[in-house]
Amino acid sequence: MSRAFNFSAGPAALPEEVLRQAREECLEWGEARASVMEISHRGNAFVSLAAEAERDLRELLRVPPNYKVLFLQGGATQHFAQIPMNLCTPNETADYIVTGAWGQKAVSEGTPYVDARVVVDMQATGYTDVPDSLVGLLNPSASYVHYTPNETIHGVEFHDVPVVGEVPLVGDFSSTILSREVDVSKFGLIYAGAQKNIGPSGLVLVIVREDLVAHPPRSNIAKVLSYSAQAANDSMLNTPPTFAWYLAGLVFKWLKHSGGLVAMEQRNIAKAQALYGCIDHSAGFFRNPVAVRARSRMNVPFTLHDSQLDGLFLSESSAAGLLALKGHKAVGGMRASIYNAMPLEGVLALTDFMSDFARRHG
Ligand SMILES: *Cc1c(COP(=O)(O)O)cnc(C)c1O
Repeated sequence: MSRAFNFSAGPAALPEEVLRQAREECLEWGEARASVMEISHRGNAFVSLAAEAERDLRELLRVPPNYKVLFLQGGATQHFAQIPMNLCTPNETADYIVTGAWGQKAVSEGTPYVDARVVVDMQATGYTDVPDSLVGLLNPSASYVHYTPNETIHGVEFHDVPVVGEVPLVGDFSSTILSREVDVSKFGLIYAGAQKNIGPSGLVLVIVREDLVAHPPRSNIAKVLSYSAQAANDSMLNTPPTFAWYLAGLVFKWLKHSGGLVAMEQRNIAKAQALYGCIDHSAGFFRNPVAVRARSRMNVPFTLHDSQLDGLFLSESSAAGLLALKGHKAVGGMRASIYNAMPLEGVLALTDFMSDFARRHG
């Protein structure tokens, strides 16, 4: 057996070069005479690895100096609650723009910690579009505005950062971070679970403007949950997910060697065009319901004209070395996740398979 093209939504494929290097270094990392998993996070070797990963990430995303970068344990789901815990008190309000399942979950998980107001909910479209404009919808006294730049399940992406005025913008970048350039200075806080575009699960990246965490509004939260305390301790208040941090560092190096985010974005555009092109030119055999302007470059849900063929499509694609194409149950059909680590070659193998399948069953 050999490695196949893996279209998993998350945990997702990692760059093969990165996995090879990790394998190479598995027993002995650098001068450590031990694995990176087996050494203290307080030792010089790991501390400099951590600092280098942060430097590389800052360079890739051009993170302004007045932002803290945190490498934390947990998942994005945890931060649905942790964000309001850190940015406001339960009596304050926050605005939520909901364009899919993850945005909904951010609202429900945030609600115990803030008066979460849904100012836009695209549910009436079946979560197939982003709002035209937010003019007149936002509350100028909200603590923050939360949105999901890429809805992983519905395949809906904002291709422009929403204009929200002075209120800090918070973005759940779990499934789109590092896939394109982004102007970090437009945000109060960016967060992303690692397992889609950064590394293994268990690590969450938080990029937060310093003034937002300088004076935490609550003193009654556990220190490990406090962005301010974590920032003051370089994310090492307790043991960080060291192996995930190491692997994230290798992915950042891989991104730099691959031409950075400009090159990655071009590659991602080419991949998305190939796949949407195949769907749109299938004479209705395949269908993607998302408005063209909001189609995700990372997650491409599609249905077959006859859902009776779903099982066959999945078994044949998997036999052809194209893995994990089953759609999320909330949407049905198929979903191809084509994050940074998926090469164009993998997408073309998928579109060849799809065209052939449509010919045989159309
Ligand atoms: C995967 C995902 C999550 C959930 O991440 P966990 O690490 O499982 O908590 C949240 N938001 C988005 C946009 C995601 O893609």
